[in-house]
Amino acid sequence: MSGIIDRFRLDGKVAVVTGASRGLGQGMAIALADAGADIAAVYTSDCSQTCKAVEALGRRCLLIKADVGKKASAEKITAETVKSFGHVDILLNNAGIIRRAAFVDFSEKDWDDVMDVNLKGLFLLSQAVAKQMIKQGKGGKIINIASMLSFQGGVRVCSYTAAKSAVMGLTKIMTNELAGHNINVNAIAPGYMATDNTQALRDDAKRNAEILARIPAGRWGTPSDLDGTVVFLASAASDYVNGYTLAVDGGWLSR
Ligand code: NAP
Repeated sequence: MSGIIDRFRLDGKVAVVTGASRGLGQGMAIALADAGADIAAVYTSDCSQTCKAVEALGRRCLLIKADVGKKASAEKITAETVKSFGHVDILLNNAGIIRRAAFVDFSEKDWDDVMDVNLKGLFLLSQAVAKQMIKQGKGGKIINIASMLSFQGGVRVCSYTAAKSAVMGLTKIMTNELAGHNINVNAIAPGYMATDNTQALRDDAKRNAEILARIPAGRWGTPSDLDGTVVFLASAASDYVNGYTLAVDGGWLSR
């Protein structure tokens, strides 16, 4: 058995990262590359910055432009990754959107759009990648991005809460069916992180102050706060960690 630090290394591994173009996905893609993985970066807008950073670390970066909310994307992402790299070892289901409105006014479109990207897309891509991992016969790592709203209700974000609560449940059933194939499925629940996703909250002085007052660490999280957790869950160091949703939240849930 190799030393413990070596068990965190991802040399020779291939990671599919959805939503790799900015925010938390960009940070985690770069962290996985820093630990040794080549990256298949899924995005819809512009992912050039992420790829530049991955390549600067000496890893390969494959750009895959695909809307994860569309059914055909799951097969396309898996097939293009395998065609280019020969295998896939890690899937990071990070792509996500949020819509804000009062529950009584919440539109069907804002319900469907969020569910399609945050839940159905995650399900379909996990299914396609898990099939490939089973075919490869060498196990794998699937990491889903959950939220504080996997644990709590939140306000004005009902489709997001529904989707992220479901992500935590799906992480458990995927574990039950995939752990026997040596595929570890876990989730990360980030706390309140400073990205585009939370810009509206930080722009609202009252909400910003309320949120900060509740975070024991006393600050918003940053994408790099997830580096250690994502590399751990992607690596052999977490081989007996299954079905768990790990909060990285500056203590928010302890309050
Ligand atoms: P962000 O800055 O808004 O970035 C969202 C990412 O998702 C972008 O890379 C975007 O890519 C991608 N994306 C959105 N729709 C997509 C689609 N249909 N197909 C493919 N990619 C798509 O958000 P973030 O804060 O980094 O959030 C990343 C994940 O963490 C999300 O699942 C979010 O729910 C979760 N999260 C965030 C926080 C937080 O406080 N920020 C807390 C808990 C959980 P393009 O721009 O290229 O479309």
